Amino acid sequence: MIDLLIWLILAIILVTLWLNYRQHNVPWKNHSVDISKFCFPRDFLWGAATAAYQVEGGCDHNDWSVWENSYDEHARPRIKNGAKAGLAADHWNRYRQDIELLQQLGCNAYRFSIEWSKVSPQPGVWDQRALDHYLEKCIYLKEKKITPFVTLHHFTIPLWLDEKGGFETPDAVNYFTDYTAKVAETLGAYVDFWATFNEPVIYAVMGWQKGLFPPGKKDLYLTAQVLYHLLKAHFQAFQTIHEIDSQDADADGIPCQVGIVKSLLIFDPARKWWLPDWLAAGLIDQRMNQAVLEAFHTDRFRFYLGKMGYYRRSIPGLSETLDWFGLNYYTQILCRLNFHSESNVRQSANPHLAKTDMDWAIYPAGMYRALNRIKSYGVPIYITENGIATQDDELRRNFILEHVDAVHEALLDKINIKGYFYWSLLDNFEWAEGFDRRFGLYHVDYSTQVRTLKKGAEVYQEIIQSLA
Ligand code: BGC
Repeated sequence: MIDLLIWLILAIILVTLWLNYRQHNVPWKNHSVDISKFCFPRDFLWGAATAAYQVEGGCDHNDWSVWENSYDEHARPRIKNGAKAGLAADHWNRYRQDIELLQQLGCNAYRFSIEWSKVSPQPGVWDQRALDHYLEKCIYLKEKKITPFVTLHHFTIPLWLDEKGGFETPDAVNYFTDYTAKVAETLGAYVDFWATFNEPVIYAVMGWQKGLFPPGKKDLYLTAQVLYHLLKAHFQAFQTIHEIDSQDADADGIPCQVGIVKSLLIFDPARKWWLPDWLAAGLIDQRMNQAVLEAFHTDRFRFYLGKMGYYRRSIPGLSETLDWFGLNYYTQILCRLNFHSESNVRQSANPHLAKTDMDWAIYPAGMYRALNRIKSYGVPIYITENGIATQDDELRRNFILEHVDAVHEALLDKINIKGYFYWSLLDNFEWAEGFDRRFGLYHVDYSTQVRTLKKGAEVYQEIIQSLA
């Protein structure tokens, strides 16, 4: 008995040592950043990103437009301060000006999304005016020599699809494929880079596990089911775009490249020498990161359901459907095993790190770690989002510098990174947080729609221009 106990303690010590060693094996340390030492490839894409619902305005026929006007079980509005997206940054009408702002920064790429509900107000009905709008936007980008990265789904669905059960139902997969086909037909001559879904896991978890996004459910099984349908929809959209988009917009010999945008949160144990916290971090990581990452390697989707075991499905061929990988990186989260918390894990920000207005810890090393984690796909990586909500110019400046520096470090290690998009070009509607979380490079005065470059954002311009 005593022997067994000794062996067990020894095993725990060894595993904990190994886990700590593995984490610290990442050779990235804090250091002062020197822009003049940056050496990025000449064809590196420097851009900024937006999403339709957050900036366009006039998105009145999607699930969020109803959600904003509804209340939770305590009769509180769903969005902080009862905010509504409304006109947002009026990007629909001001996109030309906004593209010029992007150009003034020296950017050569723009990531934006198509609002599905505008393009398809009813099942099988296409709004030509909306399609033309996006076409004109792409033509204007071409004129300005800015490469478009088009996201087909960024958290919203048309109201009619929501009423049919959205991505809970397998039918959504075919509806998404039809929509993809229509957009690819319309924009294919101007667009080579396509992202099917923005952050499928965040979308499923916020809407079906945490209930903070529509449809506001709290059901882990449905969360997994939605994710499975999103991956299937990605698979079909990948084939569809490759069938339809045979026009090479940028004349590089490749007519289209399809990817998915995945957020990677860094989950670390709150107490590095306490094995249960490693377990807690591992459990959350399985759901938030590993389930989807693994599916793109193995064609098998496995999502941890707690007491119910695993949700398992296979998607044959999924691993062949990445022409590029879109990484969204924002922060690190510390985890503790705690039986009174949701999923038995208490999550918190590292108390020793500076925080953004989202209360997210600023952790540039996480960018480096995330890039190392996804390099195994062997496809080009684009950082499709990275940014900070803050009113503090110094903090924004340092955030940008340190994160671009982490990207640079990864490039020096020969990780195949092809572009970086700051989130976001403009201040915008930050989902459940409403309007007061300001991520933009440009400040937006919502009463006048005047845009002003933030002091803290000038460093982005400096970086890009120093490399020209
Ligand atoms: C989303 C954006 C969002 C940003 C900041 C990402 O999860 O793609 O829409 O505004 O994070 O929260």
